[in-house]
Amino acid sequence: MSAFVDSLMADVKAKNPAQPEFHQAVQEVAESLELVLEKHPEYRAAKILERIIEPERVILFRVPWLDDQGEVQVNRGYRIEMNSAIGPYKGGLRFHPSVNLGILKFLAFEQVFKNSLTTLPMGGGKGGSDFDPKGKSDNEVMKFCQSFMSELCRHIGPNTDVPAGDIGVGGREIGFMFGQYKRLRNEFTGVLTGKGLNWGGSLIRPEATGYGAVYFAAEMLGTKNETLEGKTCLVSGSGNVAQYTIEKILDLDGKAVTFSDSSGYIYDEAGISREKLEFIMELKNVRRGRVKEYAEKYDSAIYTPIDPGLDYNPLWDHKADCAFPSATENEINAKDAQNLINKGIYLVSEGANMPTTSDGVNIFLDKKILYGPGKAANAGGVAVSGLEMVQNNMRLPWTREEVDNRLRHIMKSIHQTCMENADRFGTPGNYVNGANIGGFLKVADAMLDQGIV
Ligand code: NDP
Repeated sequence: MSAFVDSLMADVKAKNPAQPEFHQAVQEVAESLELVLEKHPEYRAAKILERIIEPERVILFRVPWLDDQGEVQVNRGYRIEMNSAIGPYKGGLRFHPSVNLGILKFLAFEQVFKNSLTTLPMGGGKGGSDFDPKGKSDNEVMKFCQSFMSELCRHIGPNTDVPAGDIGVGGREIGFMFGQYKRLRNEFTGVLTGKGLNWGGSLIRPEATGYGAVYFAAEMLGTKNETLEGKTCLVSGSGNVAQYTIEKILDLDGKAVTFSDSSGYIYDEAGISREKLEFIMELKNVRRGRVKEYAEKYDSAIYTPIDPGLDYNPLWDHKADCAFPSATENEINAKDAQNLINKGIYLVSEGANMPTTSDGVNIFLDKKILYGPGKAANAGGVAVSGLEMVQNNMRLPWTREEVDNRLRHIMKSIHQTCMENADRFGTPGNYVNGANIGGFLKVADAMLDQGIV
């Protein structure tokens, strides 16, 4: 590490103790940006990176609600308004017991670069709560969402901050929060994205992150004159991103053989067909069950429960060509990365945010595989959220084809930006540097133009 990154990181760690995911995200970006800062002393002088690291605003609030037994429950709510240099804050809400300030700051920080890469005018933000929707009744989820929005509504707005979904926040939660916002503010407006189709949502928004990650993979394969046809793919997670990743892999004639939840994973050597995917969607989105049930229904599948004693994830230890981590951060460690390489994987397209540890990323970069980091590969979700905002402003919905074509075009353009910046700064084929630099330049120039704010 250089003296600049060393000193920056010492400062970040001192000011933000006990936030390892935030440190990890900042360090990766800082290392990529060294190449830029050397050539552009004006960014150093204006302390652009130091300012990007500091959120513009952090909102932390109490979320009290009554459960079905009439007992009072108290959760913690957050919104990190990270950077608004190129547009209103934009980024998802996560409801999961692991949510804390450090996790949300890492996600908000990543979002700034990701949103910039989409070519749309969106700043970066992220929020959520340590509330766990798992095992809660619809009534309890609604009460929580209403209480959460009662406070959040005073900080957001269609030209200020436009949240969306993330882990634990899907169509149901967005609906409850939108309803409460509308009641409190007496306005029907595009203040959230991921809305239902009948009330301002965009076609392809649910599909966008997964489809986008596969489009990005197809672009990476295109640099080697290859396609996804016939490729065996490992997918993790079974939520929004994983489901539509599997769907698009099927569309492009690839074969997905794994998926997972936080209890264990499925390996289905025969491949996940459309009929099996429909079963997964019904299982996870309607019945809200566990992936284990898939192995009870399909003989070709093997279920392996999580073994907390293992220092690697066996999901990543199957022979395949491509991997699409789509569950959560740091789900691929160095051992997993090595297992993937040993099993023949030469493409990783990250649907999840920062699913690979720093050591894991270094293995992918050393081996020079096609490695698409989350902030580039999963930007399709927020890109279509941006398109939902455009449709809301026009009060005119686009067709499925129109949105899908725009999504495909945006993923192509992100891929191009990554390639060009990786080349321009002397690290051809390094999508990590390409994404960090490409995302940074637009935000940095806007910040220079807008003075010290
Ligand atoms: P969902 O809540 O729909 O699904 C998350 C999936 O990951 C579930 O299968 C869940 O299992 C599993 N999971 C979550 N946490 C853990 C954990 N700690 N260990 C193991 N498995 C876990 O979320 P999404 O699909 O929306 O999000 C998945 C990833 O994609 C996240 O990293 C998110 O930040 C990222 N992302 C999402 C976008 C979107 O548009 N939704 C956009 C860009 C990135 P279980 O059912 O047991 O909870």
